[in-house]
Amino acid sequence: MSSDCLFCRIVAGEVPADVVARSERALAFRDIDPRAALHVLVIPREHHADVAQLAAADPALLAELVELADTVAGTEASGQFRLVFNTGPTAGQSVFHVHGHVLGGQDLGWSPA
Ligand code: AMP
Repeated sequence: MSSDCLFCRIVAGEVPADVVARSERALAFRDIDPRAALHVLVIPREHHADVAQLAAADPALLAELVELADTVAGTEASGQFRLVFNTGPTAGQSVFHVHGHVLGGQDLGWSPA
């Protein structure tokens, strides 16, 4: 845990979050600024800076995030979802604790740039 990491503080319960699902090593909570009808973040409880670092360090934990995303989408979006990992500031990453954006619940456009 890093005390200056917002998402570590959410995991620790120091910052409130609207948690929608949990697994053994991961957490899913609603994005504070939703961009779609369903917009949930899936994060590991353990701190990893981005998805590439997580994949290198612990691929099973990355798989657990995908599984949790699928569970949330199954409950809230008929099992259909987009999973986005912004990686690096140029790609739009602003919180450097890996998180997957689970988007769905509506028809999604495609204009990533
Ligand atoms: P990114 O820009 O890909 O790093 O995504 C960070 C996301 O975290 C953004 O979509 C923010 O709206 C979201 N966010 C920031 N602070 C909070 C918070 N306290 N609770 C929930 N989501 C947050």
